Amino acid sequence: MALTLYYHDVFTFPLPRGHRFPAAKYRLLRAALLDRGIARPEDLHLPPAATYAQLAYAHTPAYLDKVFHGRLSPAEVRRIGLPWSPALLERTRRSVGSTLMAAQAALAQGLAANLGGGTHHAGPDWGAGYCVFNDVGVAARLLLAQGRVRRVMVIDTDVHQGDGTAAIAASEPRLFAFSIHAQRNFPFRKVPGDLDLGLPDGTDDAAYQAALARGLRIAYARFGPPDLVFYIAGADPWQGDRLGRLGLTKAGLEARDRLVLNTVYAWGAPLVVVLGGGYAPDLRDTVDIHARTLALAAAWVPRFAAWATLQTPTARGTLGEEPHGPASAAGREG
Ligand SMILES: [Zn+2]
Repeated sequence: MALTLYYHDVFTFPLPRGHRFPAAKYRLLRAALLDRGIARPEDLHLPPAATYAQLAYAHTPAYLDKVFHGRLSPAEVRRIGLPWSPALLERTRRSVGSTLMAAQAALAQGLAANLGGGTHHAGPDWGAGYCVFNDVGVAARLLLAQGRVRRVMVIDTDVHQGDGTAAIAASEPRLFAFSIHAQRNFPFRKVPGDLDLGLPDGTDDAAYQAALARGLRIAYARFGPPDLVFYIAGADPWQGDRLGRLGLTKAGLEARDRLVLNTVYAWGAPLVVVLGGGYAPDLRDTVDIHARTLALAAAWVPRFAAWATLQTPTARGTLGEEPHGPASAAGREG
């Protein structure tokens, strides 16, 4: 049983020479997954582009019109940090499409991933920090609106606070936005989410692990059992990251991934893994961190899949009133 993966790195867009956005990491990551035997070609899928109607679940028509028709102001383009082009629009729509498809796959199979996504700085009517649309926000709100899920949690461990996701979740009580990040990092004006843990510069593996474990406990206590979780597994809390400020080693990042996988599995919720940022001076480090995350996720597929087969459509939360989470696990077979 393999991890179902959606990719969109074949849709490239023009960048000025020397631009800091690591556009190559997505293609290199896909190659690394195949090289390391983490994925086979048949596990990798190209998504359709997210439609205007799908994007409108999290973004305003005014903002969508500007992005779709290339009418963003120079200030709005600067805030995004990527030059607008039809190719950028296509790429970013495919990225949201990847998360949408991964979410549907996770609901059916327990666990799936997008080799991209985690564009968490995009809010309802703005883009920022290399993020045009908010893939997780769109997928979560669309699935909630369709009644496919009733309670969605975002666990955002990208080193930057998930301000756009927080804004998208603010008007939707069934969506819980948890962000653990470097407090003194971008964005400097943070939009409060449902739970924000801002860490001091240089936070090491042990302190991070303790804070994350505490955050997960608080999130569960406040929100209750989610029936879908999005995990933004940013590579940028790594100690060598140019835009990071935290002090995690690669082993510490693996411990983070393991804790999230363990916890979400214990909650009995399907899980969607998306990448988030990563800005190591040597791109190979960023690719290595993401590949390790996905290798761990791949190892967890059988357990999540066993969960998924125990859950009837009613228990999945589309129709009935059955309780959710680990407490009801024993009853699911009967
Ligand atoms: Zn980031």
